Amino acid sequence: MRILIAGGGIAGLSMAIALKQKGFGGVDVVEKADGWRSEGAGLHLPGNAVLPMEKLGILDDVQKRAFDFQTIRYCDQKDNRIFDLDLSGDSWPKFQALSRKDFHEILIAKLGDTPVHFGKEIKSLTQQDESECGPVTVNFEDGSDGEYDLVIAADGIHSSLRTLLFGTALKPVSTGISCWRWTTEISGRDKPHFMLGRGKILLVMPISADKAYVFASLTDNGNPFAEDPASLIKREFADFGGPVPKILTRLEEDGPILAGDLLQMIVSDWSKGACVLTGDAAHGTLPTMAQGATMAMEDALVLAEELERQATVAKAIEAYKARRISRAHWVQQQSLKRMGLARIKSQPLLALRHLLMKAFGPKILASGWRPLIDQSF
Ligand SMILES: Cc1cc2nc3c(=O)[nH]c(=O)nc-3n(C[C@H](O)[C@H](O)[C@H](O)COP(=O)(O)OP(=O)(O)OC[C@H]3O[C@@H](n4cnc5c(N)ncnc54)[C@H](O)[C@@H]3O)c2cc1C
Repeated sequence: MRILIAGGGIAGLSMAIALKQKGFGGVDVVEKADGWRSEGAGLHLPGNAVLPMEKLGILDDVQKRAFDFQTIRYCDQKDNRIFDLDLSGDSWPKFQALSRKDFHEILIAKLGDTPVHFGKEIKSLTQQDESECGPVTVNFEDGSDGEYDLVIAADGIHSSLRTLLFGTALKPVSTGISCWRWTTEISGRDKPHFMLGRGKILLVMPISADKAYVFASLTDNGNPFAEDPASLIKREFADFGGPVPKILTRLEEDGPILAGDLLQMIVSDWSKGACVLTGDAAHGTLPTMAQGATMAMEDALVLAEELERQATVAKAIEAYKARRISRAHWVQQQSLKRMGLARIKSQPLLALRHLLMKAFGPKILASGWRPLIDQSF
């Protein structure tokens, strides 16, 4: 079977690995960038990431490089504890975090000899007998072309392949929350700290003994990207306590700071003929439950399994969608709900938020991750 994967991020690499494991030969990956790049600073991999990582054969390598933790702390902006989520019981698989670069390197190493064509993009495609999922003729921007039995869009939340298939009306939606991410040198942190302020969140997520990934967000703040990120972060988070003042003094040395709006991409149907969406192209999700990488890995494993199991590409795509879409939509809804906590700005509501979180926080958090752990994909 000739399979084309567009995109060499977490979704595309996971897909290539899963297909290779199932013995599919003819797989080509095209990646728009000129070489490997791992956009982002750190990656939180909650407990439900363990199973897909094990199935993809990367769990040991991830565990060697990742920082794992048994507690997640939620506090106010002065670092006063609101509650701890205790993950030490046996029923919780390992929660861990590592640098994006490390995770990418692990996936690339696992990819083996699957050909990756850098600096290459799809320009247009023609599907023969779309209703029967007939072969797809693909024209690339560099003037070359190819014919494939299956084309997989793994080109991220702004997927141009999705636009080619479904048109420009289908596009990511902004949540009004802007964020900045970077890696800082910091030691002695043994757990992630989520610090909740007025319409602001700052997360310090250890990714090794002496490094942490920092995520800072602001709600409805006009056009914050017009300003130099370091000065904006220093001003907006000046009244945060705990580890934050020290982190702010290091901002210029630490960099680079990645900035962007938080977006969500909801797609009701993930395929057209023999072209199918995966990863953020299918279900770009807010990072509140840290599910993006895990959902992409699950997509890959399920599609590869169904391609092996089903008699035709059409049946495999239908089975893939039946197993994936409702789970991904559930995650998107849950992630959006949790984002509501970040938006609160009024002082009385802040006090109420902290009271409620003290009482119900662990239950609320667990109610997002637990079903994903208990009901395998
Ligand atoms: C602020 C923030 C924090 C996050 N934190 C976490 C977290 O802690 N844990 C977690 O699991 N997830 C997290 N996520 C989500 C996670 O980053 C994504 O779900 C994941 O990176 C999606 O992978 P992807 O391969 O689908 O897309 P991408 O990572 O966007 O990769 C797409 C790839 O396709 C390439 N490409 C683009 N266009 C084309 C084209 N036309 N042709 C060929 N190639 C193309 C790109 O160069 C890129 O290499 C976070 C997201 C954000 C925004």
